[in-house]
Amino acid sequence: MTSLISPEKELWFVTGSQHLYGPETLKEVDAHSKIIADALNSASDIPVKVVFKPVLTTSEAITQTALEANIDPNCIGLICWMHTFSPAKMWIGGLTTLKKPICHLHTQFNRDIPWATMDMDFMNLNQSAHGGREFGFMVSRLRINRKIIVGHWEDPEVVAELAQWSRVAAAWDDFKHLKVVRFGDNMRQVAVTEGDKVEAQIQFGMSVNSHGIGDLVEHIRAASAADVEALCDVYAQSYKMAPELLKGGARYASLQDAAAIELGLRSFMKEGGFHAFVDSFEDLHGLKQLPGLPAQRLMADGYGFGAEGDWKHSALTRAMKVMASGVDKGTSFMEDYTYHFSPKGMRCLGAHMLEICPSIADAQPTCEIHPLGIGGKEDPVRLVFNGKAGSAINASLVDMGNRFRLLINQVEAVEPEADLPKLPVARVLWDVKPSLKEGVACWIQAGGAHHTCFSYSVPVEAMVDFAEMANVESVVIDEQTTLPRLKETLRCNEVYYGIRAL
Ligand code: MN
Repeated sequence: MTSLISPEKELWFVTGSQHLYGPETLKEVDAHSKIIADALNSASDIPVKVVFKPVLTTSEAITQTALEANIDPNCIGLICWMHTFSPAKMWIGGLTTLKKPICHLHTQFNRDIPWATMDMDFMNLNQSAHGGREFGFMVSRLRINRKIIVGHWEDPEVVAELAQWSRVAAAWDDFKHLKVVRFGDNMRQVAVTEGDKVEAQIQFGMSVNSHGIGDLVEHIRAASAADVEALCDVYAQSYKMAPELLKGGARYASLQDAAAIELGLRSFMKEGGFHAFVDSFEDLHGLKQLPGLPAQRLMADGYGFGAEGDWKHSALTRAMKVMASGVDKGTSFMEDYTYHFSPKGMRCLGAHMLEICPSIADAQPTCEIHPLGIGGKEDPVRLVFNGKAGSAINASLVDMGNRFRLLINQVEAVEPEADLPKLPVARVLWDVKPSLKEGVACWIQAGGAHHTCFSYSVPVEAMVDFAEMANVESVVIDEQTTLPRLKETLRCNEVYYGIRAL
């Protein structure tokens, strides 16, 4: 899969100082900053450019940099470092102007104290320990969300933290411009997948708009027979095909229909600049089958997808795909489906009617065709597989009426306990943290949806950083969570977001 993060995107490396120290010291600050920015720029984990910016010593220069960052479409965020002491009243203008995410890299140029040689000059040059606090106060005083990373810039752990944050910043940049297309409305009477699309655009930037299914059908009909055949060949090379779906097989025509739907979807999305979509089994006029295989394959290529009109989880799947781009062990639209309440270990089986991304598969998927009880259409083609074992998260974006809440639950995917020979859909089995009983009670208490986005590669911390960039609530259910404490958090958040809205 091609990267979802453009290598043209940039993080600006911005260093704060002041004129008090004289030109010689500032020259040294400048040189040190360049060295750090270059090192981060060449760090292979960081998928974007790290661009050195001249050291900032006046409020005018700081504000000017913020203005330039705001209008530069390639700038996805600022890494701020206070090499020396940069009086933070100088930062008020810039910080209140800046609309891009901030990572405060609290580092210093030297790793160790040079015990034998250190004099006052050295101490005055390398004083980020207190310079960073002055800057930090102002960011806190202005109630601006930011990431704080502490440690030496050459420490692989620090570089990894920055790399992860840069992926989140890239996802946030993508989210602000994301176009989600809705083929069909929300499933009738369903509540949690509804939401305020105007508020979503205000809060997240993404636009969510509907197109009649007939517009998509035109693209499906425009797919050429040669392209359909070529795509059927790709299927045959990529998956273990059910014999009836092979060329000459009894159901080959259904595979051709699925291929035409995939081609139509790709053509529609490309033409409209969409990177996420929803469909609805209640609105399939002109489609021969509900898109199963096509939705699965588009997700595998980085498109967001939500079933039953669920645009919030379609958009979230896209965001998590961008966050995982280049390091993805699997990220998919998901639904909590069925429990295993065995006293030997309570687990949850995640699946959907069809649409689970094959990026989470533990082996080559099989391509099969089976009836679908709802929708009243022909049998849909789909990929069937088990999800692999490993640490993962489920995340859900819900609309609480006065705010969006991003809910994140740590889970541990496990090998299936037994074969599921009669289950004709992709699925994954997981243990819920802290336990199924406590974790699920917390999820329900927090109003989390049945739909989620599941990922092996986006950690909880990245999701929290994402929520902070979007300035929305995040709620985490992990090993440390208890229901009483979660209730307290939710009540506190209710007050906080209530006051914020005033
Ligand atoms: Mn569903």
